[in-house]
Amino acid sequence: MKVRAAAATDIGRVREGNEDSYLLEDPIYAVADGMGGHRGGEVASRIAVETLERLFREGGTALAEQVQEANRAVFERSTTDHSVAGMGTTLTVAIVQGESIRLAHVGDSRAYLLRDGELRMLTEDHTLVHRMVKEGEISQREAERHPQRSVLTRALGVEGSVQVDQATVDVLAGDRVMLCTDGLTSMIGEEAIARILTSEPDPQRAAELLVRAANQAGGADNTTVVLLDFEDGATVTTTTDVATPARRAERHDTAEDVAAPRERGRGVRWIRLAVVLGLVVVVVAAGLVGLRTFLDSQWYVGVSNGRVAIFNGIPTEVVGFELHEVAVETRISASEASTLVAYRDIGDGITVEDREAADALIERIEADVAAMGEQNGGGTQAGGGTGGGTGGNG
Ligand code: MN
Repeated sequence: MKVRAAAATDIGRVREGNEDSYLLEDPIYAVADGMGGHRGGEVASRIAVETLERLFREGGTALAEQVQEANRAVFERSTTDHSVAGMGTTLTVAIVQGESIRLAHVGDSRAYLLRDGELRMLTEDHTLVHRMVKEGEISQREAERHPQRSVLTRALGVEGSVQVDQATVDVLAGDRVMLCTDGLTSMIGEEAIARILTSEPDPQRAAELLVRAANQAGGADNTTVVLLDFEDGATVTTTTDVATPARRAERHDTAEDVAAPRERGRGVRWIRLAVVLGLVVVVVAAGLVGLRTFLDSQWYVGVSNGRVAIFNGIPTEVVGFELHEVAVETRISASEASTLVAYRDIGDGITVEDREAADALIERIEADVAAMGEQNGGGTQAGGGTGGGTGGNG
C-alpha cells in the first residue's frame, strides 16, 4: 500500500502559543496536544512525539511499551523541572504496517477513517463528558456542547504509568485516515469535517482547509491535522508538511491615507480628513463596546492568588491588557485541584458557557478535591491548602 501523508498545524485565534506537536516520519504518524501552562504544554507534547520517534527507530519494543516510555519521559521531566511541573499531553499514534494501521491512543485527540465518503471515529475520547455519555448521564449532543468537554480522564505524563488504548485497523486503497487534536473537533462537527475530506483530494490542501475551517469557526484552540491517503502500489511514501502561519488581522483605513497631500483645495481636504477621523472614532468606539459586551458574556474557571476562581472574560491578554477580571475567588487551593487529572489545565483556564456553569464546575471541583482529601486519609480538605490567599485583585 502506498501512503501520501500531509499535516497542518496552527495556533488558532485565541491561544498565545501552539502546544500541539505532530510526527510525520513514515511509517509512524502522531499528534499530541500538550497542557499545563504555555511552556509545559509545548514541552510535554514535544517530548512525547520525540521519545516515540526515537524508540520506534531503535526498534525492539512494542508500540504499547514505546508509549509507556514516552509517558515516563514526560512524567520524569515534569517531576524534576519546576518550570513545567504538572504538564501532560494527549498522544494518538498510527503506524502503517502493510495493509493495516496500528493505533495507540491516550487523551482526547482522535483518529478517523474516511471510507466511501463515510467518516468513522477509530478512537475513544478519554474525557469526563464521554464517560458521562457512556454512563447515560448526558446525551452525545449535550456532550458536544458541554462546557467541560475538554476535561481529560487520562493523559500522558501525569503519572508513572498510563493505560493505553490500542487497535489494528485494516486499510483499503482509497481510504483516508485522519489524526487530529481537539482544536478541530471542538470547533467544527463531523459532517463539516467529512465534507472537506471528501471534496478535497489533495491531502495537504485538505489538511489546511480543515485548520482554516476551525479558525473560521472561532479558532479557540490550537489545531493540528495529519492526513494519510492510502493508494494501490509499492510501499513508497511521500510526505509533506506545512505549518500554516497564524492569521493576522488585516489593518488598513488609517486617516493618513486620506490626509496625504493631494492636488486639491485645502478646504476640501480638511473636510474629508474630519469626516474620516470621525468615522475612525465611531468604528473604534463601536469595536470597544462590542468587545466589552463580548467579554462580559464570557466565563471561565482559573487561578487567582493560588486559589480556584471564577473569571469574567477570556483567559488571555492582548499587548498587556488582560481580557478578564476575577468574579469570585474561592477557598479551594489551585495546586490541590490541579493534582486531579480532570483539572490539570486549570492554570490555562477552563472555559464554561455561562456563570451558572462556572458555579457548577466550582461545586464539582470542591467535591472532587474533598473526595481526594478523604482518599488520602483526610490530610487536607478543600480550602485548607497551603499559602495565604489575599483578597480579590479585580
Ligand atoms: Mn487542544
